[in-house]
Amino acid sequence: MLPDRLAPDGFAASPRVYEGTLALADMPRLAPLLAAAEGDAWLQIAPGLDEHGRRLLEGRVEAAVPLTCQRCLEPYYYPVAEAFSVVVVASEAEGEGLPPELEPYVSARTVRPREVAEEELLLALPAVTLHPAGACEPPAHDAEAQREALSPFAVLRGRVRSSEGAD
Ligand SMILES: [Zn+2]
Repeated sequence: MLPDRLAPDGFAASPRVYEGTLALADMPRLAPLLAAAEGDAWLQIAPGLDEHGRRLLEGRVEAAVPLTCQRCLEPYYYPVAEAFSVVVVASEAEGEGLPPELEPYVSARTVRPREVAEEELLLALPAVTLHPAGACEPPAHDAEAQREALSPFAVLRGRVRSSEGAD
């Protein structure tokens, strides 16, 4: 369903829509950021031509990306659901010549949908990977709270309090 490469003449005025899934672990720039080598991205991509004959790629990428929370160091899934619209250009210089509202995608060779999906996922990921605020605690705190709960003094305090209560 999802071609490995989009040929230059595969871009037509009435675009074909392709969709399929791609393994996140097969994306070489994304893979080192993953907490686990698992999960797929769903990609929908439509190669077309705009009214000026520019090669336009429109589509959508969705994934639950396994990342490591920098606060509690536990893995979590970061949800991505991004629509994109980019113009394929052969060089950075060609990209700079585009009107400012158009986002260039530099690809000197044939366009690979996997690389487009990877690029969009990387752009969508947060700079700092964290669970939502309040959803977790740093591990040091947890360990301290556990030590206190397990200490014999805490148990003793609990006994004294309960025996006082019984009187
Ligand atoms: Zn966390």
